[in-house]
Order: sequence, then structure tokens, then C-alpha cells
Amino acid sequence: MSGDKQKFGFVAVIGEPNAGKSTLINKIVGTKVSIVSPKVQTTRTRVLGIAIYKNSQIVFVDTPGIFSADQKNRMEKAIVASAWEGVADAEVLLLLVDATKKIGASTNIILERLKQETNKRCFLILNKIDKIKREELLDLSLKLNEIHAFEATFMVSALKGNGVKDLLVHLSKMLPEEPWHYPEDQVTDMPMRLMAAEVTREKLFKMMHQELPYQLTVETENWEEFDDGSIKIDQTIFIAREAHKKIILGKGGSMIKKIGQMAREELEDILETRVHLKLFVKVRENWLDDEERYALWGLNPRA
Ligand code: GDP
Ligand code: MG
Repeated sequence: MSGDKQKFGFVAVIGEPNAGKSTLINKIVGTKVSIVSPKVQTTRTRVLGIAIYKNSQIVFVDTPGIFSADQKNRMEKAIVASAWEGVADAEVLLLLVDATKKIGASTNIILERLKQETNKRCFLILNKIDKIKREELLDLSLKLNEIHAFEATFMVSALKGNGVKDLLVHLSKMLPEEPWHYPEDQVTDMPMRLMAAEVTREKLFKMMHQELPYQLTVETENWEEFDDGSIKIDQTIFIAREAHKKIILGKGGSMIKKIGQMAREELEDILETRVHLKLFVKVRENWLDDEERYALWGLNPRA
């Protein structure tokens, strides 16, 4: 750090499921702090990604994507509530929009809500510019800025990194002088056990088809560190139905083996040590209604 005064701020990243919120935060933070998937509703809970740029410590609050009002189940309601909490905690909002898609229902809800958030500074981020022509981007930017007068608009590719530095430079300039809240080397507030479970859940999302991933959850049951630095992690994949077991195990256990291998490799990357990962599959029929599960993710079951 230079002799400059420390600057600090919370920045909430909001927007449609799949807009690229988790991808952007992971890119900025430089380590995986949030799970990314092409399926919606992968991010169940708020995650903080902590970045340092020059003399600014910028804490990004990842939100689970905001759903329309017809919330069918408790899990969804709790997720929506958690997303708005993320907004309440931040002084800066980044509305992330997938520029390759039509303006969606969640974006409209957010734009409506921004009218009340007059004390917050709002930026528009058009994402996925690697997939779209410049003219179309300008049209979209004009249209959205007509609905809400954003302080600034950025065009980025969260995946490739284009435009991300501009955004960081801008954020770090505008943040108030305030001492950093977190140690310099901390990148997330997510507990390690939860993070490790999220890595496995991401692999399940990648490998499983259709609805199955929504009906499972992963928990880290045991975490043991050895003298040689290696870590033994036991996790249980809870499924809603006995019939799902066959699919997750795969032929002769080949699927679970593949998932375990992918998760282990990523955990070794993140933890920078050798990992022994053991996965178990158990049926827990009503886990979606089980309040304890919500608490684990920091969600409120009665939201
Ligand atoms: P979230 O639901 O908003 O957190 O979205 P994710 O970060 O999980 O991303 C959803 C999907 O969009 C993933 O498949 C990402 O790889 C993809 N994605 C995110 N950003 C970009 C981008 O800039 N360009 C392209 N082509 N794909 C992206
Ligand atoms: Mg996400």
C-alpha cells in the first residue's frame, strides 16, 4: 500500500439470473468465491468477494438474482429476501444486464425498485460484450438509461475481462475515505466448509441434467488438516429421492467419481494443497422444507 488514505465500500451486484454476476465478481477478485453455472439459481446465498485496487478495498456482494413476485416455494422466497438484503447493505449498486438478451422480468423489477433507492449510487453494466455488436449495445444503453438515469454505464465481458479494469478504476475513485474492514489477504467471508460444498455443488450442476440439481444439496461433514499440509474433506450430497441416487452414482459409480475428481482438483487449486475428498450420497426427503439447511446458507426460511 502506498501512503494514500485507505478507501472502502460495499458494492452490490444485482441483475437477472445468468447475467454474469458471479463471473464478474470472480474475475475481479481473481479467485473463485461464487459458483458459476449456465443454469439459473445457482447462487443461493449472498457472497462477499473482496477486492483491493490501489488504496481501495471494495467488497462486492453477490446476490442470487432477483425473481419475479410469484414465488412458489419457501426456498425462492428466502433467496429473494436475501438479494434485497444485499442491496440494503451496499452504498453502490451495479445493475448487471446480459446484453445478448431482451430486458427480462427481474431487470424490470429492479428498475422499478431503484426509484426508491435514491440514496445509492447506481451503475449500469452491460455484460457479455464478447457476444454482441457495438451498435446494439448503444441502443440497449440508451433504452435503460431512459428508464433510470444511471451515474455511468460500463460495457464489459466478465468472462474475458474486457472493461473490468475501467470499472474498478472508477469504483476505487468514487469510494469514500474509510479504513479497510478486512485483512489484506482475505477474499471472501464465506466459511471454508461452505465454500468447499459449493464447489462440489457446482460440479453436480455441470454434470447433471434438467431438474435434478435443484433437488440436491451438499454439506461438508468433516474437515481434517494433516501435518503434511493436506486436507481430508468428507461431504454428503443430500438428494430428495432414492431414485436420484442411481443417476448421481452413474454406471459402476463412474459419475460420482468424475464429479469428485473435478471438485477435488478445484479445491486443490483454491486451497493450494493436496485434498482427499470423499463424497457420500444420502436421501433426505424433505430437505427443501428443513429450516436448518437455510441457516447454513444464511437464508431466512420465513422470509
Ligand atoms: P449469475 O447468475 O448472474 O451469477 O451468472 P453466472 O456468473 O453464473 O453466469 C451465467 C453464465 O453466463 C455462465 O455460463 C457464464 O460463463 C456466462 N457468462 C458470464 N459472463 C459472460 C461474458 O462476459 N461473456 C459470455 N460469453 N458469457 C458469460
Ligand atoms: Mg450467481
